[in-house]
Amino acid sequence: AISNNNHHALLLVSPGIGHIIPALELAKRLVTHKIISKLTFFYGSIKTSTPSKAETQILQSAIKENLFDLIQLPPIDLSIHVSPHDTLETKLAIIMHEIPLLFMSTISTMNLNPTMIITDFFFSQVIPLAKNLNLPIFAFAPTNAWVIALSLQCPTLDKEIEGEYSIESKPISIPGCKSVHPLDLIPMLRDRTQRVYHEFVGVCEGAALADGIFVNTFHELEPKTLEALGSGHIITKVPVYPVGPLVRDQRGPNGSNEGKIGDVFEWLDKQEEESVVYVSLGSGYTMSFEEMKEMALGLELSGNKFVWSVRSPVTKVGTGNYFTAGEEGGIRTTLESNNEPSFPDEFYRIQTNGIVITDWAPQLDILKHPSIGGFVSHCGWNSLIESVSCGVPIIGLPLFAEQMMNATMLMEEVGNAIRVEVSPSTNMVGREELSKAIRKIMDTDDKEGCVMRERAKELKQLAERAWFHDSPSYLALSKITHSNGV
Ligand code: UDP
Repeated sequence: AISNNNHHALLLVSPGIGHIIPALELAKRLVTHKIISKLTFFYGSIKTSTPSKAETQILQSAIKENLFDLIQLPPIDLSIHVSPHDTLETKLAIIMHEIPLLFMSTISTMNLNPTMIITDFFFSQVIPLAKNLNLPIFAFAPTNAWVIALSLQCPTLDKEIEGEYSIESKPISIPGCKSVHPLDLIPMLRDRTQRVYHEFVGVCEGAALADGIFVNTFHELEPKTLEALGSGHIITKVPVYPVGPLVRDQRGPNGSNEGKIGDVFEWLDKQEEESVVYVSLGSGYTMSFEEMKEMALGLELSGNKFVWSVRSPVTKVGTGNYFTAGEEGGIRTTLESNNEPSFPDEFYRIQTNGIVITDWAPQLDILKHPSIGGFVSHCGWNSLIESVSCGVPIIGLPLFAEQMMNATMLMEEVGNAIRVEVSPSTNMVGREELSKAIRKIMDTDDKEGCVMRERAKELKQLAERAWFHDSPSYLALSKITHSNGV
């Protein structure tokens, strides 16, 4: 391993579990693989009445490991800028704008002597702000290369496309890559009258000034896109390095819950190999009462056993609590003993067939369990890369952000997933469609399902190789110390 003992990186991380988890893993690998000798982890935060329990636990376990310093930036008070009813995207616009400024003012008061800066891709506007520090600056994208290709193409699209990107049903083309279907477009790019659109174009322009962009993917997962990005001229001049899969290699962050969670594994141990579906819609999505009912009925119809990581439902439309994820709950229970009135009846009815986790689930350990044969996922990138690393095929129910692109990519390019469409009449995934998709993946007689299961297993091997001793992802990450000016 290359060891360079003079490097001190400042890593700027976005609030939100989907950003913090892979950034912690990136930080750990930089330090434990001795690519750099010192790292300071700055994480942005949002002022909320109840801080996210899961986020706090994850950060605390990182503090305990004592591999690097963690510094919380002063929390942003979103209520000054937006109303609670504003969309997630409006809030994101504020965050993308404010956190780079906060970071710059915070580090200017500290005596840190960094040799490089690594920023979450979302905060790439820090790159022009920090240019006068004369340090190499990198961006870390906790997503896949295709989404980054679209992002890097954004400033060009902004100039070339006149109306809304998605108004004509024409796919949005990215040179050398798969085109993006207008319905899959990330919400930030859907409405050019919104502030978030302009903020995001600014982010992408900032990223184009980076010394390199690290992406949580690996070559065999996205060969065509990585080739287009790596060609040095088709989309961007910035080197883009695949450094994935960045997936935690240990149990966590449940800490004190370890004992209770044990029941899940005891139950899983008793099930047949690859016979159980794991269901989770990520850290921040709360289903509506109706969506939950449909999900329960879909699981029932499929006849499959399941482990379902769930938050208490809300009465109206489902919501993404991206910034307060994992704050509620606290009870983990089998369905039999749970009498909370807030869950639909159907949820209790399917009780004999599964386990429900209403607290934070040890997702990675569940996915690794040999009894798990499929993952009903909202297609958050961390969940997908974890599933890929564990060799589990995916039943995709994309909901928001770049999840529609993620689902399409896995289904059409990678071949380890099936995507379930929302029914236009109800705006939900129907029970029939869900159960059909689950059966396709889980039924050993299904030919297409068999191909997807085999592909998932093949990807697991490839994912392991990406981070195995002097591996491609390790070498790509080591590029961080080879940049000009270091
Ligand atoms: N996660 C978990 N337990 C849960 C829910 C989520 O460990 O009960 C983890 C999951 O393993 C993943 C992250 O939280 O690492 C969620 O990130 P993802 O990108 O999949 O979705 P997001 O939550 O950002 O929508």
